Amino acid sequence: MEKLKVLLVASEVVGFAKTGGLADVAGSLPIALEELGVDIRVIMPKYASVKVKADETKIGKNIPVYFVHNDDYFNRKELYGDKFGDYQDNLERFAFFCKEVLERCKKEGFAPDVINCNDWQTALIPVYLNTIYKYDPFFSKTRVLFTIHNLAYQGIFSKDEFPKIGLDWALFSIDYFEFYDKVNIMKAGIVYSDAISTVSPTYAKEILTKEFGCGLEGVLKTRENVLHGILNGIGYSLWNPKTDTKIFKKYSAENPDDKYVNKELLQKEAGLKIDRDIPMIGMISRLADQKGLDLLAKIIDDLLNQKVQFILLGTGDNKYHVLFEKMARAHPKNTSVNLKFDATLAEKIYAGSDIFLIPSRYEPCGLGQMISFKYGAIPIVRQTGGLKDSVREFNQVTREGNGFTFEEYKSADLFAAIKRALSIYKNKAVWTELVKKVMGLDFSWNASAREYVKLYGKIVK
Ligand code: ADP
Repeated sequence: MEKLKVLLVASEVVGFAKTGGLADVAGSLPIALEELGVDIRVIMPKYASVKVKADETKIGKNIPVYFVHNDDYFNRKELYGDKFGDYQDNLERFAFFCKEVLERCKKEGFAPDVINCNDWQTALIPVYLNTIYKYDPFFSKTRVLFTIHNLAYQGIFSKDEFPKIGLDWALFSIDYFEFYDKVNIMKAGIVYSDAISTVSPTYAKEILTKEFGCGLEGVLKTRENVLHGILNGIGYSLWNPKTDTKIFKKYSAENPDDKYVNKELLQKEAGLKIDRDIPMIGMISRLADQKGLDLLAKIIDDLLNQKVQFILLGTGDNKYHVLFEKMARAHPKNTSVNLKFDATLAEKIYAGSDIFLIPSRYEPCGLGQMISFKYGAIPIVRQTGGLKDSVREFNQVTREGNGFTFEEYKSADLFAAIKRALSIYKNKAVWTELVKKVMGLDFSWNASAREYVKLYGKIVK
């Protein structure tokens, strides 16, 4: 039987460029798909961070990764914008990218059965396939799965920019691109794709509601019959304290004691008191409204007045940089605030933390909780999106559950969850048992990659 041919298109792929979870998924799902016998290939823009000279390389055993090369558009330090905001030419950049993706398929003689697009930067691909390339025999069998990693980023531009897409003004209508008199790229992508998926079953339901739909709930409702939720996995070849060379000392569920060597060395590096017994609360996050930072802000003083240490790694909105700088000044003894993107420090924090905070307002999937499980840091999360699908409240009596959770978006509820965690932390035997348990949980791509294969199969039929 011929292999299923799939092209995964993403604006970031870990190892080459990363700002968030999309990169992790785009770099690890293909490896799992290759194991399942899919002819999977990946394509992304060639940013300055891509250190490969050629316009192609390989990941996994033999997965081609193609780079779309255009120095004017992509040879920049950042992916989507700098401290002054989004790049002004993002529409041009990603319209160019989407066309080049299709041209590259032809050049490589690779006619995909399925193009798996990811987020708005790739959403013009289904549109072009149904317009400019509609009668192109090369793509006659090609279908599109559009995966939404975060509905809040839709690629919305002024109407004046519409001509940059290179399509007839007739498509600037309520059925396609028009969105409150602006151009909405993701909206057209949703309309034109053969199927849509998002990154957790709960988020797939949430985005049909006004609260989470970001204005696209109506459009998504019309596509509900082809909308799927598949929980992300993580690549354990990348995220594994047993093999991780960036952490201070490797460890595993069999010798979790060495986790505390990491904790002490992290305390030392961060200039905090070296003490195994002080609970270390870690947080690694884009600093955006989505991430529940306002909840944390309200309780942070009370929290830091207790016997805890808090280490933050993140970058994003300036207002949160100001907030955390202020917090660090007020509590210099037990906080370490790191306002940057730093993959090495991230791994050290996962390894050195006892508790990992994700109080998100909404969270399509969230990878932090899965990574922290593997590193034996117990997550405290709000029950939303993929966090709800992966974290359950720990019950000290039945020993069920794997973390600490709260439902309502209230700082008092977050604080209560933290207190429950801190109280169980005091019971070393129970805590160690919980740490060992979460380190053994399986959030690899095994199950989810199979679901993707099933879905691809459904679409090509
Ligand atoms: P999102 O995609 O919304 O940012 P996810 O939880 O899906 O959130 O993925 C976040 C990924 O980015 C994780 O791998 C996390 O460790 C990483 N990350 C976030 N901020 C930083 C940072 N400042 N430095 C290093 N890694 C980061």
